[in-house]
Amino acid sequence: MLAQAVATGRPLIPVFVLDAQAEVLGAAAKWRLGLALAHFSQVLARLGQRLILRRGDPLAILQDLVAETGAAGVMWQRMYDPQAVARDTAVKAALKAKGLVAESFPGALLIEPWEVATGQGGFYKVYSPFWRAVSARGFAAPVPSVTSMCTPDVWPASDNLADWQLGAAMRRGAAVCLPHQRVGEAKALARLDEFIEESVERYRAARDFPGQIGATSGLSENLAWGEIGPRTIWAAGQRALHEGAAGAEHFCKELVWREFAYHLMHHSPQILTQSWRDGWEGFAWRGDNPDAEAWRRGMTGEPFVDAAMREMYVTGRMHNRARMVVASYLTKHLLTDWRVGQAWFAECLTDWDEAANAMGWQWVAGSGPDAAPYFRVFNPAGQAEKFDSDAAYRRRWLAEISPKPGPDALSYFAAVPERWQLRPRAAYPAPIVTLAEGRARALAAYAARDGAE
Ligand code: FAD
Repeated sequence: MLAQAVATGRPLIPVFVLDAQAEVLGAAAKWRLGLALAHFSQVLARLGQRLILRRGDPLAILQDLVAETGAAGVMWQRMYDPQAVARDTAVKAALKAKGLVAESFPGALLIEPWEVATGQGGFYKVYSPFWRAVSARGFAAPVPSVTSMCTPDVWPASDNLADWQLGAAMRRGAAVCLPHQRVGEAKALARLDEFIEESVERYRAARDFPGQIGATSGLSENLAWGEIGPRTIWAAGQRALHEGAAGAEHFCKELVWREFAYHLMHHSPQILTQSWRDGWEGFAWRGDNPDAEAWRRGMTGEPFVDAAMREMYVTGRMHNRARMVVASYLTKHLLTDWRVGQAWFAECLTDWDEAANAMGWQWVAGSGPDAAPYFRVFNPAGQAEKFDSDAAYRRRWLAEISPKPGPDALSYFAAVPERWQLRPRAAYPAPIVTLAEGRARALAAYAARDGAE
């Protein structure tokens, strides 16, 4: 989008509007947005530009800015969630009605969600044919980064980022989480290079093992904030593939799971809030409950689950294998509604992505498209044995089980609220439910559901 705006040859005024939708981001995402904005402002400053910050109703703000500056129009990169689509459609219509240029551009996805359809003209509900269809088409090449822009003679006023207090809800967690963030385009590109150089070769074999640091790209954090585009990642993956890197195709396939999530969200936006498959809305999941609170606090007594929950609290990210295991444990062993987990991930993830998060939760819960069979109950102990056989991941995150806990395990206790009263030297809790009991309860609930159908 920026490249197209630069190509107009007109002076540009980069603007970010903190609207009602951004105001209600989860604590970690809102804080990470603040880091992204601070960094982007610095990058623009190096180009002699500024980032104008305004808070409130986007249409009113844009109209004010047009009146203040005499701008000919507004250009922006498209977003795809239903709230943003409704907002942007209204903004576009209102600006156009005033004779202004109002244009939105692709960039956040490899392919626009409406550009691919099944043979029958519908949307894809299963990943494999989606992959075959989109990978056969290929994708547009990435656009080079912008290095210069025309500036206006007079800059409009901007809010001060610090006044927005975007990190307010993070409290103690911010200082602990900060070293785990890689903010900005330059770091995202370095991350991609590093991954392609050092890890893509072993990606397929290593990506499932959470103790293997660096085995996956970590790029979800940067994708979430537009610090790198998927086309750049795809192009690097394809280059590696053509150079014979064993894991490159699998890496590209994972990137296309993100596309699939957006395709699903576009065509069935209810995936964000309702069980996607028929017959699941009335399922006997519990709402929020004390067991779910133990899950949130990484205190279930199930080591692989607790390690993962603490990893997320400290770093803002969680390994994909661990996301599947904790989601299965919450929705199955603890028989708790997937939306309880979805909301906690939205609160804690710095790579929070509404589409991928909803798809991931519903996939695991069994209520989503192309979901894991609902009766498949991941056994967290079995998963730990298989994917963390040397316990490196569990020891990294659980101070209570290590004679000499490392800095990551200890940092969890510095991050969590004081009122949780967690101490690294306390005894590790007994399981809140035995795996056999939890599994039996889940299977009984499924049997009752099947009987009712
Ligand atoms: P890599 O393995 O390096 O993969 C490269 C890229 O492919 C990722 O950055 C991501 O954009 C995409 N990708 C990989 N796996 C998936 C997947 N299963 N679904 C969609 N895209 C994928 N991902 C998010 O980005 N944000 C979320 O909020 C999110 N919530 C999830 C919740 C649950 C319950 C589950 C099971 C998965 C969730 N995922 C989410 C998907 C996945 O766990 C992360 O994308 C992945 O762990 C990111 O790590 P990475 O960048 O190192 O991935």
